[in-house]
Amino acid sequence: MITDKNELLTKAKDLLQGELTTIAYTTWIKNLEIKSFKDNKIVLIAKSSMQKDALETRHYDLICNTFNYILNKNCEITVIDENDESSMNSTKEEPVEDYTTTENYSKTFLNPKYTFDTFVVGNSNKFAHAAGENIAKDSTTNYNPLYIYGGVGLGKTHLMQAIGNGILKLHPEKKVLYVTSEKFINDLVNSIANANYKNELFRNKYRNIDVLLIDDIQFIQGKKMGQEEFFNTFNDLYQQGKQIVITSDKPPRDLPLLEERLKSRFEWGILADISMPDYETRLAILKKKVEQENIIIEDFILHTIAENINSNIRELEGTLNKIVAYAQLTHSPITIEMAQKAIDDMMIQKRKVLSSEFIQEVVAKYFNIDKSDLISSKKSNDIAYPRQIAMYLCRSEAKLSYPKIGQDFGNRDHSTVMYACEKIEKEVKENSKTKLIVESVKKLIQENA
Ligand code: ADP
Ligand code: MG
Repeated sequence: MITDKNELLTKAKDLLQGELTTIAYTTWIKNLEIKSFKDNKIVLIAKSSMQKDALETRHYDLICNTFNYILNKNCEITVIDENDESSMNSTKEEPVEDYTTTENYSKTFLNPKYTFDTFVVGNSNKFAHAAGENIAKDSTTNYNPLYIYGGVGLGKTHLMQAIGNGILKLHPEKKVLYVTSEKFINDLVNSIANANYKNELFRNKYRNIDVLLIDDIQFIQGKKMGQEEFFNTFNDLYQQGKQIVITSDKPPRDLPLLEERLKSRFEWGILADISMPDYETRLAILKKKVEQENIIIEDFILHTIAENINSNIRELEGTLNKIVAYAQLTHSPITIEMAQKAIDDMMIQKRKVLSSEFIQEVVAKYFNIDKSDLISSKKSNDIAYPRQIAMYLCRSEAKLSYPKIGQDFGNRDHSTVMYACEKIEKEVKENSKTKLIVESVKKLIQENA
């Protein structure tokens, strides 16, 4: 029987080497380290978040099966990133904070700025808002769970926290817990990685509460243990009649790697989408912000901003903040020229994001290959597949023409680009792995903007 963690890892690597291509093995497995091995719980250390992602999505089943096979039991595998200090240090600390008082709950997790008072209602969010307000007023509604979905920067987190703040205003004794799904998984991983593993602490934190607000649930996709634990947490709270609010970038059915049992539970309650606000709502949001912060700015300047910035509310606010900062720095009143400059900057920033070169950089990073490989004539699948993904994204995200994309990828013919785009487009519909990869890369593109 194997008891030594390093012996276990060596054995696993041996087996994995036989299962993977040489490139995949050297890229993803060879430099893996092992942090702990206790009972059936194994914590592996990846060298980068990219490697961690790859192991958790593309190779997770294979890795689990390998360890199950060696130890002849069902293993729980956790991968942590060595650059992520909080999970690396977790053996030294208690795994999860032990929150016992209401004070802690409300004050630690909710942003007091995110209330219904500061949330502007328009066509794009009125249904979600109404559902949220009902829950805040009467926590015995059967809007359970409330599932709010929509693109980035459209107000999901704000609305979700407004619900939490609203409940606490009426019922200060209630325990409202706000977490992102990433934090949920981190807590879980830390509690497992802890040498004296105490799952009760984790469970106490997540189950002895009245309201669970879980933000950006899409990141739980493909994470086996995270989904399992969330499923149990959900059931436990739901059976106790506790309110659950979930946000996501997509409706449950459009999350390809979300377990079916979670999808179906998410659909038990209310699904509410938030979309891009129309011009009037954008203007109302700007006016509200100006009023809150006592900013002096002429109406026609606000109109110009609302007209031009129609991507999302975060950028709308960002543009206004920039103008205000500039006026303060120069000790002068806000002018239309300042506004125009801030709007132009925002547009330029977006254009820069969407060049082929930028997309190539992100894709190369994701696949852990060299950017020059994407432009090279190499034909092996390790390179050809990422290249096709990159071409597809240049088309779908940057809206570049086929000939332009061909030119940017080492002067390839436009028909090659068309083929790649059609192939990936089809795979996104039919193959959940490709879909997840495309979504992850899109997220990286947004984050690195
Ligand atoms: P998401 O979680 O959907 O990415 P956020 O909730 O973080 O978006 O919103 C981004 C920014 O826009 C926040 O500063 C938020 O306060 C503001 N915001 C979003 N929706 C509204 C709204 N309806 N009224 C006022 N401000 C809003
Ligand atoms: Mg958010």
